[in-house]
Amino acid sequence: MKLYSTNNKNLQVSFKDAVFNSMPQDKGLYMPVDIPKLDNDFIANIEQYSLPEIAYKVAATLLKDEIPAKDLKAIIDDAINFEAPVVKIDKATFVLELFHGPSLAFKDFGARFMSRVMAYFLQDGEQLLDVLVATSGDTGGAVALGFLGVPNTRVTILYPKGKVSLIQELQLTTNGENIRAIEVDGTFDDCQALVKQAFADEELNSKFRLTSANSINISRLIPQTFYYFNTYAQLKRQGNNEVIFSVPSGNFGNIGAGLLAYKMGLPVKQFIAATNINDTVPRFLNSGVYETRPSTQTYANAMDVGAPSNWVRIMDLFENDVTMVKEMVTAYRFDDEETLEGIKNIYSAFGYVACPHTAIAYLAIAQFRKENPADHSTAVFLSTAHACKFPDIFPAEIAAKIEVPYQVMQLETKVKYADVLGTDFEGFKQYLLSK
Ligand SMILES: *Cc1c(COP(=O)(O)O)cnc(C)c1O
Repeated sequence: MKLYSTNNKNLQVSFKDAVFNSMPQDKGLYMPVDIPKLDNDFIANIEQYSLPEIAYKVAATLLKDEIPAKDLKAIIDDAINFEAPVVKIDKATFVLELFHGPSLAFKDFGARFMSRVMAYFLQDGEQLLDVLVATSGDTGGAVALGFLGVPNTRVTILYPKGKVSLIQELQLTTNGENIRAIEVDGTFDDCQALVKQAFADEELNSKFRLTSANSINISRLIPQTFYYFNTYAQLKRQGNNEVIFSVPSGNFGNIGAGLLAYKMGLPVKQFIAATNINDTVPRFLNSGVYETRPSTQTYANAMDVGAPSNWVRIMDLFENDVTMVKEMVTAYRFDDEETLEGIKNIYSAFGYVACPHTAIAYLAIAQFRKENPADHSTAVFLSTAHACKFPDIFPAEIAAKIEVPYQVMQLETKVKYADVLGTDFEGFKQYLLSK
């Protein structure tokens, strides 16, 4: 698989280069030069296959020239070792639960696959890979747990003191081994600024092999296609064919992967992009004007993104033709009050506890059906995180119903360890150089 930069189709690199560099120098994003289609036979019989089998088939279709079959299979079996069940909540509505991995969020798919692909490319004797990541909560946990124990890698996570939930903090700070956490006395933006400065620093780059693990990395996007195919397989077993996906969206990586799956031949009727009030994309699809804004904090904080970095990928998939994008993607936005109402409605109607991000995707299906009363398609909303990660948002009655998963019970027995740093770059640089 060769990849080009969305800013320059003549600039082409190998998959390995795109994995280690995340972003082209020209600040575009890497996209596959060719998007191969899965064979018709496979799609027609997909209900016969398990998630790891589907994941392997999809990955091999994209990466067969990059990673030999046996190695790719081992990577998949190690990375995708948890379920992604599709749960029926009424006659035509299903929720795709993507929170059964170690960090209880869908980012586990991307982080686990990326870490194993990186480890694979770091052949014996290559310099230790130093992953630097700033997190506002969910990314750090997925990356920490994804890289934990992966040979020849070390992860440094910066998080803003007092601004992540208790469970998120435990996921970042209780790992040890090749994972270290830095509690920064500042905001998420300060953490991100420190990481950016480190990547630009000559001395650090000459001493360490630095890489980022952010969501624009192509090796995080690819594994997110797996569960769209797997959902189709699960629904097909139950006699459903035309599917609508509603995706809670922030940086638009998750829905971007869904659209990539569609381009690879997955039958999908419609995608719905569901956002909170950080609604750059819904506004764009309504007005045709793409105007980013600074982000605003909401209950669905993993979607508090004013400039969604993966949107250019989606435009690129549709040759930058807005009309074509609009045929396939409908977008709605919901504020905090509506989100809370959505959580209460899902609970009272179906006895199901949805995290705020998930509730927004549910609301978007309801809105779509209101606007398209003749459309009786089966709809699936993606549940991107377990409700227990956001305990403060739920009314007491619903909070009491949240089941604590074993991943959290294990965490509660562990001891937090984080180094504390300020927001000045010199301090961070000396810290890195001294270790
Ligand atoms: C990261 C995240 C999102 C947003 O996903 P994108 O791929 O950035 O659109 C939604 N929900 C949860 C819980 C997340 O952690």
